Amino acid sequence: MYPVRLKSDAKLPGMQQLVTMRIQAIVDLSVVVNANTQVYPEDPVARLQPHSTIARDGFNILAVSMGSQTGTHVDAPYHFDESAAKLDELPLARFVGTGVVVDARAAGIRGRITWDYFVGLEDQLLPGVIVLLHTGWSAHYGTENYFNNPFLDADACARLIALGVRTFGIDALNIDETPDDDHPGEGFPVHHLIADVAGVISENLTNLQAIDFPNPLVSLLPISFEAADGAPVRAVAMRVQV
Ligand SMILES: [Zn+2]
Repeated sequence: MYPVRLKSDAKLPGMQQLVTMRIQAIVDLSVVVNANTQVYPEDPVARLQPHSTIARDGFNILAVSMGSQTGTHVDAPYHFDESAAKLDELPLARFVGTGVVVDARAAGIRGRITWDYFVGLEDQLLPGVIVLLHTGWSAHYGTENYFNNPFLDADACARLIALGVRTFGIDALNIDETPDDDHPGEGFPVHHLIADVAGVISENLTNLQAIDFPNPLVSLLPISFEAADGAPVRAVAMRVQV
């Protein structure tokens, strides 16, 4: 559907080969950014207001205001660690890789995603992959229940890190438990574990059920904000035929 022609490296003149890579489908894993985009309690909401209009200026330009972690986004290690890497200090390879979708829909409300959910996937959990925790909690996006998200167990996170995983995503507000008046939470242990190894976390993903093909090429490339704790992402999963 979207053919892309890439020239492969070749050492000898005349030996170059053209490799055709076909992107057969692109699945959008991102929420829409508008004034109703649900944010973490007390985070900045998004505002998109006309700055220039065709009627007045001859062209349309928006003035955009939002938090660095409003909507679908990535967290850099600096989010939870003053001395850790900022967004622009990370290699872009952190944000692109083969997705491993983990079915954690059984975890449920404030459920803990333990290592049990990863059993059988060990041979796919390799350096460079992007672990996508499919909780189904995006179905609650826009409601109060969205804050009662399932979350990754710290021990399971440590095992994933030991296997070399550095990029994590979840279709929920938070990869850790979200504290509120009735739930103290655990102090964001998964954020700290991932920050400690210069890993990244993508939150507020959606539509993970639409990845119904093997080996999706996942892109979580963020806006290039300078010295940031994170940035918005147009997250996608691509079905690629090489
Ligand atoms: Zn986060």
